[in-house]
Parts: sequence; C-alpha cells; structure tokens
Amino acid sequence: MIVIDNFNFKGLKAIVRVDFNVPLDKATGKVSDDTRIRGALPTIKKIIADGGAAILMSHMGKAKGVDPKLSLKQIVYKIEENLGQKIQFCDDCMKADDAVKALKAGEVLLLENLRFYAEEEGKPRGIEKDDPNYDAAKKELKAKQKDFAKKLASYADVYVNDAFGTAHRAHASTAIIADFFAEDKKMFGFLINKELQAMDKVLNEAQKPFTAIMGGAKVSDKINIITNLLDRVDNLIIGGGMTYTFVKAMGGQIGNSLCEADKLDLAKEILDKAKAKGVKVYLPTDAVNADKFDANANTNISKTNETPDGWMGLDIADETIKTYTDVIANSKTVIWNGPMGVFEFDKFAKGTSAVAKAVADATQKNGAFTLIGGGDSVAAINKNKLADKVSYVSTGGGAMLEYMEGKVLPGIKAIRG
Ligand code: AMP
Repeated sequence: MIVIDNFNFKGLKAIVRVDFNVPLDKATGKVSDDTRIRGALPTIKKIIADGGAAILMSHMGKAKGVDPKLSLKQIVYKIEENLGQKIQFCDDCMKADDAVKALKAGEVLLLENLRFYAEEEGKPRGIEKDDPNYDAAKKELKAKQKDFAKKLASYADVYVNDAFGTAHRAHASTAIIADFFAEDKKMFGFLINKELQAMDKVLNEAQKPFTAIMGGAKVSDKINIITNLLDRVDNLIIGGGMTYTFVKAMGGQIGNSLCEADKLDLAKEILDKAKAKGVKVYLPTDAVNADKFDANANTNISKTNETPDGWMGLDIADETIKTYTDVIANSKTVIWNGPMGVFEFDKFAKGTSAVAKAVADATQKNGAFTLIGGGDSVAAINKNKLADKVSYVSTGGGAMLEYMEGKVLPGIKAIRG
C-alpha cells in the first residue's frame, strides 16, 4: 500500500473522493459548517503543491436524482475561500471529459453530486424492496455501477480516498472505483490516515488502564462495539438511556425510564462476559429523574435502581459523576461514544458535560490518549468547547462505529486490501 506523504503527484491527475456533505443554511443557502471542507484541505493542497491536478468528487444529502437544492455548485465559493484559489465546476459527473482534459497542473475541478446518479449507491430508485422486480432492477444497476466507477476512474491517473464518513459504504466512488487503479496508483488521503491511526492506536496499542465510556439511547445500537471492546478494555463505563436495560436486567426498579425489554438477556450476557474477562463494569448508581420527557420537566434524584413510579432517569447524578470522573482520571486510554443523559436539555446535561471535562482533563493532565466518536458525543464535546483538549475527535459517526466493532469497511479494504 502506498502512502500519500511519500507520493509525488507532479504531472498527474488525481481523482479524490472527499466528504463535502456539508450543512447549508436554510435561509441563505450558504455553508453553515465547513469542517468537512477544511478536513480535506491537506490532501488537496499536497496534490496541487506537487504539481498535480485534483478532481474532487462527493455526494451531498440524500439525493434521489438531479436536485438543484443538493447541487455542489453551492459550495464552490467555500472551497475557493478555504483553498485560496479559484476552482472549476462540472455540472455532470459523467460528462467531465472536456473539463478534465483542459485541467492543468495546480488546478482543481469539482464534479457535481455523485448521487444524482443511482449508480453511485447502487440502490434502485422508484421501486420498493418488496416489489417482485426489485432484485432484477438491483442486478441491472450493479452492472451499470461498474461502468459508472470506470468512467470516474478514466478521468485520472491516481485515486485518493479521503472520505472517512462514507468508508463503510460499498459505493462506486468509495470502493468500486479502486478496482480500476493499480496498487501503486491508489491511496488514502491525510484525513482517512489520521482517522485510521487514531482508531488503530486504540484497538491495537492501547496503554492501560483502558476505559470505554458507552452512552446514548439504546443498548442494541452499541452491542457490537461493546462486545469488541470487552476483549481490550479494563473498565467499561455505561451511561445514558441504555443504563436502564442493564439495571432492569439486574432486577432494579426503573420507573418510566427507557428500556429495551427484548434486550434484557443481552444486557445480562454482556455483564457476564465482562466479568469472565475481568473487565470492571461501572453502571450509574444515582440519577436525575424527570416526570416527563421535556426540557422543563420537574426533577428529583434517586438511586438508579430505585426510580420512583412515574419518573424516568434522564441523567447521571453527582455520586456517579464522581465515580466516573475518578475512573477516567486514572485511565491512559479512553474511548467515548454516546452521551450520559439527554444533554440536549440543559437540566439533564450536567453528567455529559462532566464526562467531557474529565476526558479532556485525562488528556491534558494524565497524558491519556482519548478518542471521541459518534455524532452525539462529538456534539457534546463541541458544546463544551473541549474538542481541542482531547486527542482525537472522529469525523465519521457510522464508519467509526463499524471500524471499532471490528468490521471490515469497504472503502478501507478497497485500498488496504
Ligand atoms: P445515540 O445516538 O445512541 O448515541 O443516542 C443519543 C441520544 O440518546 C441523545 O439524543 C440523548 O438525548 C439520548 N439519551 C441519553 N440518555 C438518555 C436517557 N437517559 N433517556 C433517554 N434518552 C437518552
């Protein structure tokens, strides 16, 4: 596998899969958060600084055909602002031959939204899965998907994948296209490399004590990552709504708290497995309860396994915060996914903020390596303005979870083999 740092793009055209699925302000149509554009800059700059040309391709939104509201043309100005140079735009990703031919060293061309074509995702449109003709339509589209990927590949000498957020999808531009490039003509960009380094460090070289903090709504969403991490961690901290499926499984009173009744056995199984592997599991011991799921609900505090009837636990309380803070402070590696409570409501945000602060402190004061991932924990760390005080904040929610679950991501396999 070749590495972008050592590659010289001089005289070459590189087609780069970036993740420019950026949010647009509803009122103005302007880019409201350009984090993803900034994330791709090191790769683009390296290509043009070497004397190569960059052809950028991305999806935007859940396009189901040509849709001006999801046109990447709207973000051209933002890329130019960030790059500090003009770029070109081609309004049909399948008709870029002339634009590509005219592209000179140091120039950048952006192709229109790949998902304007069904071939990108390979999912038939306008036909439901239960339709008897669905399978045939899918087969036909899959064949066309190869041609679509081949056409994109024909524009360039080398392929660079720098879109970690879509690396868990086997799409034309994220995986299939790689088949049309030789081993020494395809590579990851700087962003994907950084993501992989951070995750591999946690999965393969974690310094101990290693603590996983798992929160969020449901056990069912996190079961695979928890199972994979049980072989690696010393401590497993549980928080958020999933707490109550565990507490109920252990015979506690959970009132109206969130509970997945069909996952009680699974919760018990996780606890048994953790015990067998010598992993210390921390469940919240006290909670902030609400009389309804509302930002202005009345609140009280109780033991987590003694939630009063008619009340629901929406955050961890002080005793738990103290325990969790101590465990995190003594850790050398921390991975955090999912909030400790309903942090969107101020009344129930304290536990999540305290954990965010503890993770930042462990990084700064204890030299711990700390990795934050999953949409809501990233939002929580940003809300607390601590993103630059932790070791790494992953940009890819679903992709990060799947990688940490031990799954092979199609976009990664396409290049790593
Ligand atoms: P996830 O996407 O699985 O990480 O879940 C994040 C969501 O879980 C957030 O929207 C939180 O509001 C929600 N959540 C966290 N704690 C609780 C709780 N105790 N009860 C209900 N929802 C919760």
